Amino acid sequence: MKKIAVLGSTGSIGTQTLSIVREQKDIRVTALAAGRNIRLMEEQIREFKPLLACVFQEDAARDLRQRTADLDVKIVCGMEGLTEVAVQPESEIFVTAIVGMLGIKPTIAAIKAGKAIALANKETLVTAGHLIMPLARECGVPILPVDSEHSAIFQCLQGAGRNAVHKILLTASGGPFRGKKKEELEDIRVEDALKHPNWSMGRKITIDSSTLVNKGLEVMEAKWLFGVLPGQIQVVVHPQSIIHSAVEFVDGAVIAQLGTPDMRLPIQYALYYPMRRSLSGERLNLCSLKNLTFEEPDLKTFKGLSLAYEALERGGNLPTVFNAANERAVALFLEQKIRYPEITEIIESCMDSADYIADPTVDEILMTEQTVYGQISEQW
Ligand code: NDP
Repeated sequence: MKKIAVLGSTGSIGTQTLSIVREQKDIRVTALAAGRNIRLMEEQIREFKPLLACVFQEDAARDLRQRTADLDVKIVCGMEGLTEVAVQPESEIFVTAIVGMLGIKPTIAAIKAGKAIALANKETLVTAGHLIMPLARECGVPILPVDSEHSAIFQCLQGAGRNAVHKILLTASGGPFRGKKKEELEDIRVEDALKHPNWSMGRKITIDSSTLVNKGLEVMEAKWLFGVLPGQIQVVVHPQSIIHSAVEFVDGAVIAQLGTPDMRLPIQYALYYPMRRSLSGERLNLCSLKNLTFEEPDLKTFKGLSLAYEALERGGNLPTVFNAANERAVALFLEQKIRYPEITEIIESCMDSADYIADPTVDEILMTEQTVYGQISEQW
């Protein structure tokens, strides 16, 4: 019986993780954490019977405590609560599926406590990859990618031994606005940007996919996970989202991972690695695939991707600035306070005016985040 703790259990990745638990029947959920959705959290507690549950807000935790008074579960809150979930003594795998940099500290705590990390929360590696990866190596803890592209790369690397990777081919659907030119993005509405052609995901990541900022974050994540240089990561637009990514080895051989767009597969692969388990759902039928097409990303129109490469090349706290600026800009766009093109304009402006820190500590990363937030709320 595997034992897991899930951070972000009420979200898109969190609920899909719990659907795997429901289907496989041999995983015990020891701890859950979420933000404020106590209605769903209560349902999850009743169904999965964790020993510990955390909701971030104190008043929500109080409410949840009352709702679950008939159950044997400890309810905690705040960052301390998230950390308690991360290090819950009985869990073996910590699934981090929260949105944002809030994931960094609990992940560090889980690594130090020797938990395997099933990582969906890309912001942790984007901003603190230089701290997380060496720490994981030092503690002998695996970082198992959940993001579908990184899981695909990870799967392609199985059996590669010491053979050198020439480059990573990171696929991107291109989002709902693929093929559009800059001028055509001026009047994009929230509901248009929330329509992803292939994947069903949380709101923030869906907007990020439409701007290609998500692909930029994935490039940064790939650098840390697979120890390659930025120049070795090539983004390839593949609108059908059948090839989830590929690896080219030094001899020119390209190994790819294919499948239907279903996040449950990479989540399950991380939970059972290195074993594969049967999984319900639609299977890929190669004969029914008429077209697999590939193209270069349009970096002029979707500037978020080129800004991400710039942040990665410059390093230090620049990826944090990129991420924090995007987070706030996307929130403003979702609140209809800024226009769609302003998302990348805000990122660029924050990167241009950032105070550079070469090798930021966790506190400096979080301070950079707050500085960027402050700057944006003053100007927009
Ligand atoms: P969602 O917005 O669907 O879910 C976010 C989760 O985080 C919710 O459970 C939410 O709780 C929780 N949360 C928010 N704030 C807090 C807080 N202060 N304390 C504790 N929990 C909090 O996001 P996704 O599932 O889409 O994405 C999660 C991560 O996975 C992101 O980093 C994303 O980039 C990455 N990812 C997502 C993919 C997808 O298909 N969705 C694919 C690959 C990566 P509540 O609802 O209670 O507020």
